[in-house]
Amino acid sequence: TLRGKEDVTRDGRRMKVYANAGCLADIDSALENDATGIGLFRSEMLYLEQKEEPTEEFLFAYYRDILKKMPDKEVIIRTFDIGADKKADWLQVPGEENPALGMRAIRLSWLYPNMLVTQLKALYRAGLYGKLSIFYPMITSCEELEYLKKLENQAKEELQRAGVPFAEQIPRGIMIETPAAAILSRELAEKVDFFSVGTNDLTQYTLACDRQNPDIESFCDTHHEAILRLIAWSAKNAHEHGAWIGICGELAADTSLTERFLRMGIDELSVSPTFVLKVRDAVRKVDLHTKED
Ligand code: PEP
Ligand code: MG
Repeated sequence: TLRGKEDVTRDGRRMKVYANAGCLADIDSALENDATGIGLFRSEMLYLEQKEEPTEEFLFAYYRDILKKMPDKEVIIRTFDIGADKKADWLQVPGEENPALGMRAIRLSWLYPNMLVTQLKALYRAGLYGKLSIFYPMITSCEELEYLKKLENQAKEELQRAGVPFAEQIPRGIMIETPAAAILSRELAEKVDFFSVGTNDLTQYTLACDRQNPDIESFCDTHHEAILRLIAWSAKNAHEHGAWIGICGELAADTSLTERFLRMGIDELSVSPTFVLKVRDAVRKVDLHTKED
């Protein structure tokens, strides 16, 4: 009964309910569960399955296939978040004692800039086939965004020089998954179109709790006030500076927080495909005109 229904509260406030995905089969599952879009496509999954770095052509064909499956819905692809718990055998990374605090995600682009340029070229080309947005993981500063901008320009110039068609205006965002990004969200919001809060890592880094270690789970309170305040602060700053904000970590599916997220001004929740209708149901039950509990 919830398929085809709008993601709106009783009083008409919209909260887009998107799905997370990591492969083409997940896109089918997102469609079956009537997701309004894809809020997080974990692009690193494809890299981890390969024996060597994927080529631009290979990536382009894959991204085009994703977009062709949902040409009318927004699809937000995250650039590769390789490192920490997601190691690629073919990628040389200096030995690390604390990989979760190490050469992970965008940080690899300082070591291997062309790897990101290749991915961006494939994404820009695929952008002609649907409603694509791109976002970056593990951001901690505005300076990182300046460096990434250089790589974006390099990717566009290379495509132009080669006469390859591509989408010029693709919305770009960042993950808010480090305390630094949340604290600096005012400055960061001026530089991007949207934020997506990665509560899995934001919790790990804020509460100093290794997400891989089940023994410390009791210290890892996902409803910790520090996390919720960082999300609220990021939402306020996003909206004051013309950006929108979603949540794509596991907390997005926690329906005991749906009303609180709505009251913070969160615009989108991206969850595992099987949770889409449950979250839509929760959104549709909220009435923001009633007094907060
Ligand atoms: C997160 O950190 O919350 C997130 C969505 O990214 P990942 O789980 O892939 O690190
Ligand atoms: Mg993360």
